[in-house]
Amino acid sequence: MTPKLVDPFARAITYLRVSVTDRCDFRCVYCMSENMTFLPKRELLTLEELDRLCTAFVGLGVEKLRVTGGEPLVRKGILAFFQSMSRHLESGALKELTLTTNGSQLHRFATDLHSFGVRRINVSLDTLDADKFARVTRWGRLRQVLHGIEAARSAGLRVKINAVALKGFNEDELFSMTEWCASEDMDLTWIEVMPMGDLGNENRIGQYWPVSDIRHRLSERYTVTDLAHRTGGPARYVQLEETRQQIGFITPLTHNFCESCNRVRLTCTGELYMCLGQEDKADLRLPLRSHPDSDTPLVQAIHAAIGRKPKGHDFDYSRQQVAGQVSRHMSHTGG
Ligand code: SAM
Ligand code: SF4
Repeated sequence: MTPKLVDPFARAITYLRVSVTDRCDFRCVYCMSENMTFLPKRELLTLEELDRLCTAFVGLGVEKLRVTGGEPLVRKGILAFFQSMSRHLESGALKELTLTTNGSQLHRFATDLHSFGVRRINVSLDTLDADKFARVTRWGRLRQVLHGIEAARSAGLRVKINAVALKGFNEDELFSMTEWCASEDMDLTWIEVMPMGDLGNENRIGQYWPVSDIRHRLSERYTVTDLAHRTGGPARYVQLEETRQQIGFITPLTHNFCESCNRVRLTCTGELYMCLGQEDKADLRLPLRSHPDSDTPLVQAIHAAIGRKPKGHDFDYSRQQVAGQVSRHMSHTGG
């Protein structure tokens, strides 16, 4: 039997996030610049190559696969990829197949996604105000996303809303977003903005709204109970007793979540990032493409990469400068 993936700090790697495209139909201000240059198509893994890679990871013990991007649902033929991955759900090797999406294409794909075994999805949505939505996504339309969320729920998908916490932008929507999610029976997670990509003229430190403050403000209106359960990821959860709703907080900057990290990230070009906050990566495209008939070199390269997974990241917002900043955009590593 092939040995499973365990890193040098005894963490079993069971969760793969895979970015299937760097392209997107939005240009969120914290994620992309307005004039993005995308990768030439030949650089991208084909859907067949993505299948082979993900299948290798499943064979090595990965139980949860999250498809992301860019916007995963703008990749041509992506449904065929979900359909193909569903065989690992059927075999029992994969426990969960899921995706993170901006919601713009859900009205087209929700029913098929459900039929291929997807049960829960994350939809990113920072505001319920149409004008603010247009500003933060630059190209997005709120109505289309809300329509997509409705379609997803009608198809039987459980939806979790992810909102990036932005100072002076969606602070005033804390309670309206909370109440909307409660009324629609959706969980809500707030994400602290991360120092990804090129800060350029946009001072992200100014946009940083700590989730500790969100928690505090919620506790002024609700009875907030800490929940013990963790997903192995960066989110911590509380329950609002009055609404029985779960609120998640992703605090990569103010808390260290690295000790329970069970995940790695694969880019759409086949680079494996062992840590979101570090530059080290492994090229899996080369062993994949140079050995079309044997997965042995690929599996060896995966093991070698996991053997280099670092203990943690170095993000630090103290002293008003961003230390440990990494230069790539979230759309590259898939958030
Ligand atoms: N396009 C899909 C979406 O928006 O859900 C999937 C890819 S997107 C890169 C994944 C997540 O990363 C989204 O929830 C987005 O809000 C988040 N994100 C992007 N840039 C970020 C940043 N600088 N800090 C925190 N979260 C960020
Ligand atoms: Fe696109 Fe998602 Fe990045 Fe927004 S956060 S630009 S929707 S990839």
